[in-house]
Amino acid sequence: MNEIYFDNAATTRVSDSVYEVMLDKFKNVYGNASTLYALGRESHTLLEDSRTIIAKSINADPDEIVFTSGGTEGDNTAIMQTAIARKKLGKHIITTAIEHQAILQPLKYLEENEGFEVTYLPVDENGNIKLADFKAALRPDTILVTIMSGNNEVGSVMPIHEIGEILKDHQAWFHTDAVQAYGLLDIDVKRDHIDMLSTSAHKLNGPKMMGFLYKRTGVNFPSFIKGGEQEEKRRAGTENVPGIAGFAQAVKDVSATEKQARQTKYYGFKQQIVNRLKENNIDFAINGEICPDNLNHVLNIWLKGISTYVMQTNLDLAGIAVSGGSACTAGSIEPSHVLTAMYGEGSPRISESIRISFGRYNTEAEVNQLIDVIVKTVSRLKQKEEK
Ligand SMILES: *Cc1c(COP(=O)(O)O)cnc(C)c1O
Repeated sequence: MNEIYFDNAATTRVSDSVYEVMLDKFKNVYGNASTLYALGRESHTLLEDSRTIIAKSINADPDEIVFTSGGTEGDNTAIMQTAIARKKLGKHIITTAIEHQAILQPLKYLEENEGFEVTYLPVDENGNIKLADFKAALRPDTILVTIMSGNNEVGSVMPIHEIGEILKDHQAWFHTDAVQAYGLLDIDVKRDHIDMLSTSAHKLNGPKMMGFLYKRTGVNFPSFIKGGEQEEKRRAGTENVPGIAGFAQAVKDVSATEKQARQTKYYGFKQQIVNRLKENNIDFAINGEICPDNLNHVLNIWLKGISTYVMQTNLDLAGIAVSGGSACTAGSIEPSHVLTAMYGEGSPRISESIRISFGRYNTEAEVNQLIDVIVKTVSRLKQKEEK
């Protein structure tokens, strides 16, 4: 299909290099990594080589990497298993109001069923939390702080380093959902004193249902998925070796310089969009802010007076895919909890915004086509209104 794809925060196309690696491994490296014969040993070697590549990408040790079925499993594991292992030390957890549902839903479960208390840090109109709010929320009985590295709907980045510094001398474990940030920002779990970190391969041109949870040595809890002894008894189930090898390839493809190059390219796309919308006198505002240090692949725009659904449909007719919010809520057009946290319930932004998210295959020409369709649609709708 010849679609122009601008929904890379929802998922990305598998890159050619990942595809080649996975095709080969699916066919040829099918042994169970826990077995002792040559075919199994080959899988085991590929598994451990992949683990080493991935560990290096966040300055962790290979034995601190546990492969998972994706970001959701990493987030659920970090939250549910920390709660189980540490409830005797306290039942208070801190998070933000703009986390992904993979964080919010397990927390809600703990609140409703297990007597936990959760503090949701508010955000300002740029989607940023305040460190002072975090410091004020921290209590002696806080056992877990889970704060995303960067937001999937508006691209704001959280002060992970500062929070890590504060938690260095506190009992609370520090988890971050780095699913969106992993392919774009420089992550160093030692520098930032991160205890747990979850990622997902399909957000950086890797396969779906594949991810890892970084768990610092010394952070101990029972396995979320119970069964066999894979992953040093930390995650049962036969490893998806071709998927893991594909993930490692995706990680190799985003070197530090490549991340910087993508951030710069996407920042340029944002400016291109904003400038051309202004030139065409489109009445719009950015949800959040355009700032080079944010996740530049996400641009959330309020097109004043034009419903998300109408704009999305018009773009779809022109063969362009964008999101009406986060992928998980877009299907049902539920109001975005992120925009609600930023602008308050009832803000017109919640029903008149689209999220454009860039990936490695997007080009300037595609961005121009996108703008052309937005401009045409807005003018047509405004003319209709004036009649
Ligand atoms: C996509 C996403 C997830 C979920 O990851 P899956 O691999 O799809 O389970 C979690 N958190 C954030 C911030 C995401 O963008």
